[in-house]
Amino acid sequence: MGMYIVLMGVQGSGKGTQAAILTQKAGLPHITTGGLFRAMESQETPLAQEIQAIMKRGDLVPDATTIQVVRERLAQPDAARGAIFDGFPRTLPQAEALDKLLAETGQAVNVVPYLKLSRDEAISRISSRWECSLDPHHVYNVKTNPPKVVGVCDIDGAALRQRPDDTPEAAAKRIDTFYEKTAPLLDFYQRKGVLREIDANRSIEQVTADLLAALNIPAR
Ligand code: AMP
Repeated sequence: MGMYIVLMGVQGSGKGTQAAILTQKAGLPHITTGGLFRAMESQETPLAQEIQAIMKRGDLVPDATTIQVVRERLAQPDAARGAIFDGFPRTLPQAEALDKLLAETGQAVNVVPYLKLSRDEAISRISSRWECSLDPHHVYNVKTNPPKVVGVCDIDGAALRQRPDDTPEAAAKRIDTFYEKTAPLLDFYQRKGVLREIDANRSIEQVTADLLAALNIPAR
């Protein structure tokens, strides 16, 4: 049986950071729809351009498009034993579609850690977030997780940049959208008995320790 993990949490709760750590510890691929959409930035197709415009506004990409992107990603061989979803599902139809997709191979969502963070803390964290211009998995926060040298990635020395959709207006909108459209998923997974709530307002190491415990993965 595979291990399919859905990481939930408002933007800024540390989902991306924790998913990158978990990917290493659990040996599972990190499937992030936001990352998949951002990777389409340079494509010239009308669909890719439309997606970039939606992301800039802080709106959600339509469910059908999002589900199609996940269907294609899940069909790749590295996702056959499990995956860590980050930023997906974000709506009830997406959650139902994910259940159906996994059921096609006899799988299901096994566990849903929820990184819980207040709205105020989320806004403060997003405005101080920087990512590596070469590899968006290298994420920093000038307040809570600064790089060793200002503006430079510790891992590969590339310049850091703010995400184009991390403007204060777009960030506030994404956070409101989380509480409006995504928070109902907490009930959905709670009823299935797979939700695990984790206090995200602590250090990266403390949150990782709780996550590994929730997933029954040894810390070392
Ligand atoms: P993220 O990196 O997860 O914050 O996603 C960045 C942006 O990509 C979001 O603000 C949405 O515009 C879009 N996006 C990412 N994942 C989804 C999803 N599951 N459903 C709809 N839109 C998404």
